[in-house]
Amino acid sequence: MIMTSSKTFQPVLERIAEEIGRTPGRGRPADYIPALAARDPRAFGMAVAEPDGTVYGVGDWREPFSTQSITKVFTLALDLAREGDELWEHVGREPSGNPFNSLVQLEYESGIPRNPFINAGALVVTDRLQTRTGDAAAELLGFLRTESRNPDLDFDREVAASEDAHGDRNAALAHFMASYGNIDNPVPVLLDQYFRQCSVTASCADLALATGFLARHGVRADGSRLLSSSQAKQINAVMMTCGTYDAAGEFAYRVGLPGKSGVGGGIIAVVPGRCTLCVWSPGLDERGNSVAGVAALDRFTTLTGLSVF
Ligand code: GLU
Repeated sequence: MIMTSSKTFQPVLERIAEEIGRTPGRGRPADYIPALAARDPRAFGMAVAEPDGTVYGVGDWREPFSTQSITKVFTLALDLAREGDELWEHVGREPSGNPFNSLVQLEYESGIPRNPFINAGALVVTDRLQTRTGDAAAELLGFLRTESRNPDLDFDREVAASEDAHGDRNAALAHFMASYGNIDNPVPVLLDQYFRQCSVTASCADLALATGFLARHGVRADGSRLLSSSQAKQINAVMMTCGTYDAAGEFAYRVGLPGKSGVGGGIIAVVPGRCTLCVWSPGLDERGNSVAGVAALDRFTTLTGLSVF
């Protein structure tokens, strides 16, 4: 273990980047959204943010990438902050054991998705946030801009259009849940919101900072409270059990932190009370998680001893 209380995370980040740089074989970028397929699988960046907003980074840590499913954490937080426990009547909080875009479980379970991080669950959360705000994607973007202190964060229209053009499965999920009365807004409105949400582009530095409220037990960067500490704990727990597709058990085993991945190759992770992390490398494993990203987080918790276990 090289540090548990050192003032700076920079040496450990540099050691991890050096180790990752020597590791061949990095998986393959997602190609089901053509706009994502062009990224170099050898790109790698990692950032750590402390609760006071100090941020450390290495490699491509300021390079913007497609956040994709990482945004599901933020829409969940924004909706939970507004409606509280009523949300859990519309979406569960158990791992699904199925791929992120699976339809099968929904019919057995009467249109109530297993958790907010599979696509069906995220569609329900975005739908409810849309009802409460009138523009869920704008609400998300505003939150990310404020927490990351980066007013330039934006949607990527090309990625959103690409998702729309290849969005039959998400459309099927939304229509299916609408048939059970678990979607309030017109499906085309919801899909537009969801695709824009997934298209937000941000860097490791931006996302490590934006995730800070989960390390600060629900408190935003300006000191105001978004969530109760109990709600922040709940989100961290759902990230731990459901945040990395159907490999959440393996992620908990290797990394030991709440985390959420996206098919753009990013992963955010939280050490409650201590720091937040974001790592990015576009090459994915067969479950959809960044190969170098999981390896880097594994090394981080091993080298620092900073895990929840
Ligand atoms: N926009 C993606 C989809 O719904 C999100 C995928 C992901 O990152 O898990 O297909």
